[in-house]
Amino acid sequence: MPKALETVLEIDLGALTHNFNYLKSKLKPQTKFLAVVKAFAYGSDSVEIAKHLQKLRIDYFAVAYTKEGIALRDAGITTPILVLHPQPINFKTIIERCLEPSIYNAKVLNEFITVAEAQSQTDYPVHIKFNTGLNRLGFWENDVDYITSKLKATKSVVVKSMFSHLAASEDVSESKFTERQIETFKTIAEEFESRIGYNPWLHLCNTSGAINYPKAHFNMVRCGIGLYGFGNSPKEDDNLKPIASLKSVISQIHKIEKGETVGYNRAYKSKGIERTATIPIGHADGINRIYGNENGFVIINGKKASIIGNVCMDMIMVNITNIDCNEGDEVIIFDPNHKAVDLAESAHTISYEIITSVSQRVKRIFFNSL
Ligand SMILES: *Cc1c(COP(=O)(O)O)cnc(C)c1O
Repeated sequence: MPKALETVLEIDLGALTHNFNYLKSKLKPQTKFLAVVKAFAYGSDSVEIAKHLQKLRIDYFAVAYTKEGIALRDAGITTPILVLHPQPINFKTIIERCLEPSIYNAKVLNEFITVAEAQSQTDYPVHIKFNTGLNRLGFWENDVDYITSKLKATKSVVVKSMFSHLAASEDVSESKFTERQIETFKTIAEEFESRIGYNPWLHLCNTSGAINYPKAHFNMVRCGIGLYGFGNSPKEDDNLKPIASLKSVISQIHKIEKGETVGYNRAYKSKGIERTATIPIGHADGINRIYGNENGFVIINGKKASIIGNVCMDMIMVNITNIDCNEGDEVIIFDPNHKAVDLAESAHTISYEIITSVSQRVKRIFFNSL
């Protein structure tokens, strides 16, 4: 790629192919692969990512909200799309756009059946979500009776899959808890299947679950972060390639005297004669205020420059006193060599947060390194 001349997010579709193939190599050939493309495919671009994965013959997509599924359908994506967290107000649209809802409580079940019946649907695919310990979204084990009796009373929907979500799949010290979630899920599935009389697909694992718990792959895995290049462990990070690089440019350089201050509220005070660079990226672009006041850094000509003072809406200032650089030089916020996970850790957050924060204002550029 040529050097960045403005703030850009470069997205390497070749790295996406690599990550997909790596994760797939962990699965049995018959295990299906669902790509989680919620939140603009973790801050990249859900349409371009979904188009690329559709070419790689991905089995399923998942988004969080209905609006995200509509955007994929508008872009011509024809692969099935699971909506993880829909609301009853979305149900008519969900059916119109061939999206498949996660059904996570009795209210949602009843309202979806009502809408599906009103539209004379038969066997509309739905996905029943169970809570096995995350305590976030989903039916409880003892709801199986209720759900299956409701489902048997209608022809409008069919259970395409049953799923649950692991609470700590990346954390080996919580493996006992994870094992218990796997067992609970199996018990629920057996009970459900015996009552409903057919076998929906089963899926439980996110990226770390798919990597750490091969016996819990069931019929499908649901990977997000791994596709985008992070494995939630240093070892797995080495096997994956970050697909996104956030870059910018030095707009202006200032030389300041000892005791002068930088930025709003005069939050940084110079300790001597120093040089600062102003960069066109701020909290409205995804550089959260937590990265200010020397919690975060950028890379200029291979060297770390810490972010000084408060992060502004459209700018940050960094300390370049010991860096040989000029106005117009490229600035790297994260890339495959300076990983988002390192920047995230310096500000006590996680890779998921920094990559999904890159706002829609930042221009996306796509390329394929393969
Ligand atoms: C976001 C999400 C995933 C993907 O998790 P990763 O850790 O990014 O692989 C899978 N399943 C559900 C229910 C999710 O909400």
